[in-house]
Amino acid sequence: MSRARIAALALLLALPITCARPQPADRWWAHVRWLADDAREGRGTGSRGYQAAADYVAREFRGAGARSGGTDGYFQPVRFVGRRLREPESFLALVRDGRADTLALGADAVLSVAYDPPDSVDAGAVFVGYGLQIPEYGYDDLAGVDLRGKVAVYLRGGPPSLPENVRAYAQHQGVRWRRLRAAGAIGFAALTDPTALPMSWERFAMNRLTWGYGLADTALDEHHGEKFKVYVNPASSERFFEGTGHTFDGLLATARRGDPLPRFPLARRIHARVRIDRKEATSPNVVGILEGSDPALRHESVVLSAHLDHLGIGAAVKGDSIYNGAMDNATGVATLIEIARGIGAAKVRPRRSIVLLALAGEEEGLLGSRAFAVNPPPAVGTMVANLNLDMFLPIVPLRATVAYGIDESTLGDRYRAFAGSAGIRIAPDPNPQQTYFIRSDQFNFVRQGVPALFFEFGGTAEDSAPGKRLAKWGETRYHAPSDDSRQPVNFKAADAFNRLLAGFTADVANARERPVWHEKSFFARFAREAVAR
Ligand SMILES: [Zn+2]
Repeated sequence: MSRARIAALALLLALPITCARPQPADRWWAHVRWLADDAREGRGTGSRGYQAAADYVAREFRGAGARSGGTDGYFQPVRFVGRRLREPESFLALVRDGRADTLALGADAVLSVAYDPPDSVDAGAVFVGYGLQIPEYGYDDLAGVDLRGKVAVYLRGGPPSLPENVRAYAQHQGVRWRRLRAAGAIGFAALTDPTALPMSWERFAMNRLTWGYGLADTALDEHHGEKFKVYVNPASSERFFEGTGHTFDGLLATARRGDPLPRFPLARRIHARVRIDRKEATSPNVVGILEGSDPALRHESVVLSAHLDHLGIGAAVKGDSIYNGAMDNATGVATLIEIARGIGAAKVRPRRSIVLLALAGEEEGLLGSRAFAVNPPPAVGTMVANLNLDMFLPIVPLRATVAYGIDESTLGDRYRAFAGSAGIRIAPDPNPQQTYFIRSDQFNFVRQGVPALFFEFGGTAEDSAPGKRLAKWGETRYHAPSDDSRQPVNFKAADAFNRLLAGFTADVANARERPVWHEKSFFARFAREAVAR
């Protein structure tokens, strides 16, 4: 973009720096408070509260000068199937020689209900290492293993020999399940290294009886064909290995050393009965379009996305059962709205169109973004980039950002340069084990060949005060009712981040060339496949 335009945009977004809490940050926080208000009931998929939030966002997009870009005004409705475990009627046991070792549901294992279960399951099981198959890297945990009609038991994670993003990609549930299914498996049991749990087992298991959602469209649903699925408490995982000559602790030690994991049949069969309640629900993605100023480029769009949904109402913690999702991800949606206002009010719009996208069903497995990225509404045009916001966590000063996917495309190069000129450092992925590259909505754009970045605050040393604050937030407020609007926020940092992203969005939309994948990037294949389609 031209210097003049940078100056114009900077002016437009400029604030009186003198006050501790600048006015745009107040406006941004007002959106967060509205979206995270108890009256929105945690914006659960299919809920009234989500719909009210979607109406609010559509109103704000219109107010910012964005025209409707959905298939139904500002909405792209997404159809879901809701399922809920009837735990007292369900059971899970490991059986050998007629003796059953029953696992306590909740304490030992959590049954997933992301699929329609058969009447019962009685199947052999095979330990398949990480359960990954990546032919491009000659890596195959399923080679020579007979999985036909069996449950694949795997350790979450991947071999250190693979590049981080490829390792993350292969671990995506849809990607992994497609491979396991092709090998004949009927389902899987996922084991976890206790040091890699994203939250304590107790916190994870607490909400196992709330509704979960999948995509109703079987062409989009990536759980298709699953007949059984369970997550196992690390403290109970040893029981799967009785009679095999292997131990869970031994396998963990092998994995931690980075050595290849063995693969072997288990001595115990898996018996299960899974009973569910089922319902249908619809929640929309919200789509607004700020039309580009260049007639030759406005059919190309930069998609700025943030998920609008959160976990709804769940198990009470300290008497509070509303999972408000203020940081996760009312903040991202509020940033979207404020960027829309800024760019919408500019004298000269960026050359390409900017698609504002508030997504449904992210917490249920990136579902709204899958529906959108696979079948974008016609008004969206040609998507050339995705910039995704999900819980960027402005609770510490902004010194550096992590941009997941930064090394994969020229979009990343562009961000590196832009952030650098704004004095913001680029921090590396602080925890590749957590596979954030595949854990938010940008991943569905990546899979459709669209260069994408996902941003969060970064660069805080673990033992620094900000590092400790972030870690504590993850332990206590992440996916908990206390992620509400009564928590401390660093408004100055939020404001600086919002301006950085607004500037970068305009920068991408104004660039002469659209972003492309680096030729050597593993993910370039998806762009080639998209062209072939
Ligand atoms: Zn989120």
